[in-house]
Amino acid sequence: MSSRLSEQPHRRFNPLTGEWVLVSPHRTQRPWQGQQEERVVNTRPAFDESCYLCPGNERAGGQKNPQYEGTFAFTNDFSALLPDTPELSTGDDMLFRAKSESGICKVICFSPRHDLSVPYMDLENVAGVVKTWKDEFTAFKANPSIRYAQIFENKGAIMGCSNPHPHCQIWASSGLPTVVETEQREQKRYLVQNGTPMLLDYVEHELRKGERLVHENDHFVVVVPYWAVWPFETLILPRRQITAIDEFTDAEITAFADAYKTLTLIYDKVFDCEFPYTAGIHQAPAVEGNHDAWQLHMHFYPPLLRSATVKKFMVGYEMLAMPQRDLTAETAAETLRSAKGRIAGA
Ligand SMILES: [Zn+2]
Ligand SMILES: [Zn+2]
Repeated sequence: MSSRLSEQPHRRFNPLTGEWVLVSPHRTQRPWQGQQEERVVNTRPAFDESCYLCPGNERAGGQKNPQYEGTFAFTNDFSALLPDTPELSTGDDMLFRAKSESGICKVICFSPRHDLSVPYMDLENVAGVVKTWKDEFTAFKANPSIRYAQIFENKGAIMGCSNPHPHCQIWASSGLPTVVETEQREQKRYLVQNGTPMLLDYVEHELRKGERLVHENDHFVVVVPYWAVWPFETLILPRRQITAIDEFTDAEITAFADAYKTLTLIYDKVFDCEFPYTAGIHQAPAVEGNHDAWQLHMHFYPPLLRSATVKKFMVGYEMLAMPQRDLTAETAAETLRSAKGRIAGA
C-alpha cells in the first residue's frame, strides 16, 4: 500500500457493492470516552435445561428436540418467511410497491454442546456443519419455489443473538435479497469488462501482496478486504472458482471448516473474549442457470473496535452519508496475524 494512504484521509471502493468507505487513519489516536459494555465471559454449561436448542428440550412451538449427536436442522418456529404465501403484487404503482415473498427459515444447531462455539469444536465437527450447509443448499436448489438460500450466523448478545447455543440460520426465499442482487450485478459487470470472475482476480492480488492476508490453506484464503467497513471485517475466499456450496468437494469442506475455525479462534484472541459477529455466505442463486460471474465467499462483520467492550457504531455520518473507519484494513490484518501468533500450536 502507498504509505500516504496509511496516513491521510481517503475513500476506498467496494467493487462488490459499488459503494465507497471513508478511511481516516490519522484519527486512530483519538481519545475514547464512550460507552463500555459489560464483558461477557463464557460460563455456559454443556447442557442447559432451559435452552430450546439443547437436545431433548421442548421448543416454544411445543415440539421436542431429538437427542441429536451432530448438527440438527429444523424449520424455525417463528419463521420470517412462510412457504404457502399467496401471490400478491401492487403492480406498477411507483410510490407504493409491494409483492409477495415466500420461503423457508431453518435453524441449524452446530452440535449438542451448549457451550462449544465454532473455534472450540473439533475440526471434524465444524466440517459437519459445512456439510449440513451443502446438504441444505442442495435440497433448496431442488425446490422450485426457492431462488436464494442465505446462510448466516449471529454470534453474541451484542449482535442481537437471542440464544447462546451455537447455531446458524438459513433463510431461503422466492426472491433474490437486496445485497445479493447488488453483488450479482457488480460481479456480472466485472466479468463482462474483464473476462474473469471478480473475486478470483481479487484473491490472486491479495495472495501476491500479502498485507491483508490473515490465514490460508490449500483451498481457501482469509483476508481483511481492502474496502472493509467494520474494524476487523474479513472474507473467506476460495482459490478456484466455486459459484455455490454444492460444488464443494470433501477436501474443500474440511478446508473451509479449517478457515472458519481458525479465523474465529483468531478473533477470540484479539481482545481475549468470545468475539461477536454476524457472518454469512454469499453465493449464486439456488437455481440452475449461468452463474459464471459468481464466486462464493463468506463475510464476517464483527462490531468490536478497541476492546471486548467497546464496539463500533454505525451512526451519524455513516447512517446519513457513507461508512467510515479509522483503523486501516492493513493495520487490522496485522493485528489479526499477531493474534494468530498467540494461538497454541500456530
Ligand atoms: Zn443449548
Ligand atoms: Zn458478499
